[in-house]
Amino acid sequence: MTTPAETLRQLADEGLLRKLRPLDSPTGSEISRENRALHNFASNDYLGLARHPSIEDALIEGVKNFGAGAGSSRLVCGSLPPHHELENALAEAKQSEAALTFSSGFATALGTIPSVAGTGDFVILDKLCHASLVDAARLSNATLRIFPHNDLLKLERLLTSIRAKDASARILIVTESVFSMDGDVCPLREIVTLAENHGALLLLDEAHAFGILGPHGMGLADELGLQSRITFQMGTLSKAAGLSGGYLAASREWIDLLTNRARSFIFSTATPPAIAHAALASLQLIRSDEGERLREKLSQNLREFDATHPFPTPIRPVILGTNEAALAASAELETRGFLVPAIRFPTVPRGSARLRISLSASHSSDSIRQLVAAISELAKTISDS
Ligand SMILES: *Cc1c(COP(=O)(O)O)cnc(C)c1O
Repeated sequence: MTTPAETLRQLADEGLLRKLRPLDSPTGSEISRENRALHNFASNDYLGLARHPSIEDALIEGVKNFGAGAGSSRLVCGSLPPHHELENALAEAKQSEAALTFSSGFATALGTIPSVAGTGDFVILDKLCHASLVDAARLSNATLRIFPHNDLLKLERLLTSIRAKDASARILIVTESVFSMDGDVCPLREIVTLAENHGALLLLDEAHAFGILGPHGMGLADELGLQSRITFQMGTLSKAAGLSGGYLAASREWIDLLTNRARSFIFSTATPPAIAHAALASLQLIRSDEGERLREKLSQNLREFDATHPFPTPIRPVILGTNEAALAASAELETRGFLVPAIRFPTVPRGSARLRISLSASHSSDSIRQLVAAISELAKTISDS
């Protein structure tokens, strides 16, 4: 049996040890940590809503009207008006019959997948799916199958082989619209067609697309007009929406079932109603003209960073390979005044450690230009050494 100290030493030896380093400022595109001012390129607050005055005001108003906490789980006595207003608005925005909110995106995955699939069923995941989806699939007791990232041919083969053996098994395909560490997009149209052709259910996690893609920022399914063909539209209110909490939009029947089965929903205290109230304001802002202007500013910033990049998403990885290289690059950028995290196993596969640059509408074009210059200098030092 290894002791915690031994495990920690081993993690440190592999360049995999993580430590908390608190900021000494609020979040935002300009922050301070350990008394050093930094341009922040690490956050998922892609539209700057975590610090938006009207969202902050909505949170304060929510506290004044509905108190600090919910008092209990939703099913006992913690279901307050803001929760229902938010869920109705999400259902409408997602063009689905109903929606359910959870305390986080992670809790949404953990509550949903095991309620939908179980022993004798199949869950098929993209290789790069987020940890919450993987853990939820494991928890479900269904048979797991993984297809290589965005590989439609392999996905089709899996579907065909499962169906050949079991015409009536429930199959749940799980993927993401925008992948969190690569910033690329799934071939959603083709996946929807495959799911329909093989009688499979589809769960699409829009965590990094919500607020960003689509004419009203409702995600990739919105952009492609596919919302009504996706069984489960999942997402989080903790990234572009600037707050915290997760949601699932689906048919009335599925939502009623989840209300009865999703253990992370049933056995957990409701989200503070003020957060639900502010999330409604955030959803409305995302869908408004102002939301559109923020997305336009984000696109401008993305072009400023790299005009040739193929995906209109705010996540830009720089893959360096080894943990040491990623950590060294991140540390060097920090000395130059930029917070850009090194992302390592198990967040990404071994051997693909990287810098993960995330852009926001709240960045100034000046700070982006400085970052580009710092990265190209860094690349020169690496290639010269
Ligand atoms: C961040 C993330 C989650 C978890 O959402 P939280 O609200 O932060 O718990 C789920 N899925 C994906 C793809 C994510 O990137």
